[in-house]
Amino acid sequence: MNKKKRIVASFFVILKVVNNMNVVEIINKKRRKEILTDEEIAFMVKNYVDGMIPDYQMSSFLMTICMAGMKQSEIFSLTDCMIKSGEVLDFSCLGENVVDKHSTGGVGDKTTLVLAPIVASLGVDVAKMSGRGLGFTGGTIDKLESMNGFRTSLTKEEFIEQVKDIHLAICSGTSSLVPADKKIYALRDVTGTVESIPLIASSIMSKKIAAGTKKIVIDVKVGKGALMKNESDARKLARTMIAIGKNYGVKVVCVLTRMDAPLGYSIGNGIEVKETVNFLKGQYASDLYELVITLGSYMVSLGKNVSFEKAKEMVEKAIAEKKGYPYFLKMAERQQGDLRHVFISSRVIEIESEKSGYVHDIDAYKLANLSQALGSGRQDLNDKIDLGVGIWIHKKPGDFVKKGESLVSIYQGKKAINFKDVEACFTIKRGKVEKQSIIIDVIK
Ligand code: URA
Repeated sequence: MNKKKRIVASFFVILKVVNNMNVVEIINKKRRKEILTDEEIAFMVKNYVDGMIPDYQMSSFLMTICMAGMKQSEIFSLTDCMIKSGEVLDFSCLGENVVDKHSTGGVGDKTTLVLAPIVASLGVDVAKMSGRGLGFTGGTIDKLESMNGFRTSLTKEEFIEQVKDIHLAICSGTSSLVPADKKIYALRDVTGTVESIPLIASSIMSKKIAAGTKKIVIDVKVGKGALMKNESDARKLARTMIAIGKNYGVKVVCVLTRMDAPLGYSIGNGIEVKETVNFLKGQYASDLYELVITLGSYMVSLGKNVSFEKAKEMVEKAIAEKKGYPYFLKMAERQQGDLRHVFISSRVIEIESEKSGYVHDIDAYKLANLSQALGSGRQDLNDKIDLGVGIWIHKKPGDFVKKGESLVSIYQGKKAINFKDVEACFTIKRGKVEKQSIIIDVIK
């Protein structure tokens, strides 16, 4: 046998051993709701990353975790294996006042773009690694790339130097950071295994810990447009992430926030940058303002070691004095983004209301799906998104709309949608309705 054939043969022998001896046994053990050992979890993660366990067995394992759950010891063990699958960064050279922020993902969630420069303007260092999105719209990285030329890929040295100079850098995570999550998340996405608290908590926290985060504020979204559909699951997820953080000496504050209606005025990529700029110049939707104040106050409180009340005063003043805008400009300039050329479609279609009344509800999930159908989001990680398309919302829950007034503007690209479906996302009634606070609770 030549060398190549020997290597192939030994691969299949190992694969057979892996398959016959352990994988099915481990899956069955989890199915019986027994507690897996550190070795069993490490075996599954490591062999999957190395290509020794095929997708169909890993899918079965992940689905079993979705159904049977995991005890805290197993979640810690899974997080640890994920972290150890790649490089672990150390930003201790930046000192103590570096604070990170994360969102479990929602519709129209441009909060990082708005919040990071405001917090940076108060002297808190924001050294943030973000991702591309799957689903309705792109992630923070895609949104930043809606500014022509914006460099989202920075070297470690460039990243550190920028944070030292302007308190703010947002870049994409390197491929060496938690490779296990990249492979497992892609599989979860196509096998209906995203919505599991142990899997979400370990996925998020492994990336944060590997990226050197020591203090973090996490926006845990709850509602129709979020991964967590109810408050009880959101609380469980928050407590799990806080416990993982504690295990690694990472301070985690979770803010539970409503995600039934889209956040702010826009869903898309370029148009979310436009909304960010409007906000930083003093024009904002009240839900996004409330969210930025709350998350920002916890970030400043952690970063500067001051009380929440003091931090809130500082954030409110910074917003009123438009302190964040020059920091956003500095970040764009340092990362070569051209704010004069943001990708925004010039084909704009107004969808008018067919009746007068108060907006009681906007179905975030349905409207987000329409935005995705326009091309603002990916179905697969390799899909190309259209950064210029999206939906601008003129009437938010609690607002009055007159018949014939515009409910939304559609920024259209090459893909068409049925405009009737857009109006169907709005519940409009004659009776008045109060605007609800977006903040549900804070768990520390
Ligand atoms: N975001 C992540 O990073 N991982 C998940 O599993 C879900 C949301």
